[in-house]
Amino acid sequence: MNKKIVCIAGVVLVIFSNLFGCVSQTRINENYESYDDSSTVANSEEESVTDATGETKDTQLVLNNKNADTEAISKIYDELRRINGDSLVTVTDDYGYITFLKGTVSEKKFERMSDYENALEFLKPALTASSDIELVFTTALLDDYNYQYAIFTEKLEGDTVTSNVVKFILKDGYMLGLTSSLVPYYAPKGNVIDDTVAIEIVRDYLDENEADKEYFLAPETEKTFKYQTDPITLQEYCTKVFVVISNNPESNKDGVEAPFLEHYVSLNGEYLGKAPSYVKRGQDDERDYSIFNKWFKRSITHSYQTSYEDANGKVEEVVVPVTEDEGKYYLEDSKRRILCADYYEFAYNKRIQILSSKTNDDWDLDTIIAYHNYIVSYDFYAELGRYGPDGLRAPILLLMDYQKENHEPIDNLCYLGCMENVHIFTATTRANNYNRALDVVGHEYTHAVTTTAIENVIYKNEQGVINEAISDIMGECIEIMHYEKEGIDVNPDTVFAMGQSTGNVIRDLIYPELHGQPRYAGGKYYVPTASVPSVNNDLGGVHINSSLVSEMLPMMYFTSGLSLNDIRRIWETVICILVPRSDFSDLCEIVLMACEMSGLEEATETIQKSIKMTRIDAKEPFEYLSENESQISLLLPPWIDWNRSRLEVRNESGKVSVCWPQRKSNKIVITVEPDKYKIRLLQFDQNGDCNAHWQYGENGWEMNGEDNEYYRDIPIGERISLPAIEYINK
Ligand SMILES: [Zn+2]
Repeated sequence: MNKKIVCIAGVVLVIFSNLFGCVSQTRINENYESYDDSSTVANSEEESVTDATGETKDTQLVLNNKNADTEAISKIYDELRRINGDSLVTVTDDYGYITFLKGTVSEKKFERMSDYENALEFLKPALTASSDIELVFTTALLDDYNYQYAIFTEKLEGDTVTSNVVKFILKDGYMLGLTSSLVPYYAPKGNVIDDTVAIEIVRDYLDENEADKEYFLAPETEKTFKYQTDPITLQEYCTKVFVVISNNPESNKDGVEAPFLEHYVSLNGEYLGKAPSYVKRGQDDERDYSIFNKWFKRSITHSYQTSYEDANGKVEEVVVPVTEDEGKYYLEDSKRRILCADYYEFAYNKRIQILSSKTNDDWDLDTIIAYHNYIVSYDFYAELGRYGPDGLRAPILLLMDYQKENHEPIDNLCYLGCMENVHIFTATTRANNYNRALDVVGHEYTHAVTTTAIENVIYKNEQGVINEAISDIMGECIEIMHYEKEGIDVNPDTVFAMGQSTGNVIRDLIYPELHGQPRYAGGKYYVPTASVPSVNNDLGGVHINSSLVSEMLPMMYFTSGLSLNDIRRIWETVICILVPRSDFSDLCEIVLMACEMSGLEEATETIQKSIKMTRIDAKEPFEYLSENESQISLLLPPWIDWNRSRLEVRNESGKVSVCWPQRKSNKIVITVEPDKYKIRLLQFDQNGDCNAHWQYGENGWEMNGEDNEYYRDIPIGERISLPAIEYINK
């Protein structure tokens, strides 16, 4: 080994020991599908890093996920085809297991539990690699149109593995199809730590790695099953973990919605990582919720009426229910079970203080508007037969004036989660006025609906995109239907813009590119599935790519001839069919099936057109390049962490586009408008801080150099491959 390499190796080692702890570089990039192994410098460097790192801790899990047994499966398919003929539709995952099935396993009616058990037994080899998996009946749902959804969940050593589910869809007892979300279960070895130790582990980890951020940990933890991804093989698995909830220090940032983070600690005491979340607790030891039982029984009800003008000059009349008790008025809706309370009291004084007035004429206008918008959202779903977010009339708590303990307002109105079966939202803040945007409020309300309907929502990559898009779709439906009902004229060109009634549009379902969202997969602004979803890649593009799905709404509205009432029914059915791991391929079939189930087959043509237009079913999205766009691509060498890197291109007017490697790949492709671009590659550490960057200049790549003014010309219709980043830069 020559001196130059040893010298550079020192620099790189620092980066790598920060990144991966004891895990060596060679193991990290193992199992990737498309690594281009052309650099010999890279290989010699790889060895030196491995040697110098010394002890290599093997953290790769022994997972039993393997490809489906083709022989066993072909028999199942033969039988399915015999029963269903050409109408059979299946979608499978990377391993060949069925995640969506349209069709039945039996011509007979399902009448007994044994009918389901037999169906599962027959399908098992086509659903999972775990031949000894025990799936037990957990819930049944009957919608207003007589469709039944029977949910079976994995049972393991007396526990319910809530993340592993199979959902049967039936009509009058006849099976129409199923959705499945099964990943292998992994049990860590070693002694099980106790709750307090789990919290200590999270605290120590954050103190050591993220001391610059302000974290508050919940005093209690719970053990539950969660999806995890093996950091080395990127295989998905589920395991029982301690979940420690903290605040989300990034929740004030643009595009960050979830108010909390879940930190995962393995049963044997290893910090596994964190994910944004809503809180979900059966028990809140800090607050007294008995107040709900008392207040929803008050029979003296009044109303409060007011009106206001929105940012576009549209006048909105608002009427909200108010209750009275001993001469005092309260913002409470006994029928819908909605309470308005003060955020500060709830969060910092642990009290549920209902907003009250002595006169019923001095309410805060924004509080009333928020309250009203939640009532409209509630009614929208109630008309579909879903009373409250869970469909079981769970109480709703609206917390007003979202703020930090030092009274600084928090710029994020969101669904906080569910505690003691109460669904909680932050409904107003002094930092923004999205409480006035019915579509934004409807978006948040829909998060509560989907979080309840789909146990263990995976809020990242395609699953997160679908979750966000459904919130946008239903949010817009809620707003436009409200305008239609009130006889308010809508401008079809602007009404699909999220937040347009406040004058501050966040996203636009008709013109996604105006807000940096793609029109089709592989096109401008499109981002691929991320290996390690994080704040630095919008959790795999959950807010960026949501346009790929939400574009279906304006298409359905303008071209299918359906009413909004029909459209919302289709999407409510989609929510009922989805399971946690349903991805784009599943969704395409689920939406089509939902049209049929809603008796609205006329919409299928629009859906098919929309799928074609948005290309969400494309396996290789970047293969297609439209004639007025261009592509820039770069192959990452092994000493850069593919999972935590991001390419940024900036044109001369300062507009930035970002991209990262497709999951399990070292290739970054970004589709752009032809223009001149300044190009940068960033690498982040595990905590999301940038620890290295490379700037593209006249003489190629420069590592950690000064910002240069070099703009690379990207001509129209061309695919430009950037030269490899050479190992020795200086
Ligand atoms: Zn959202």
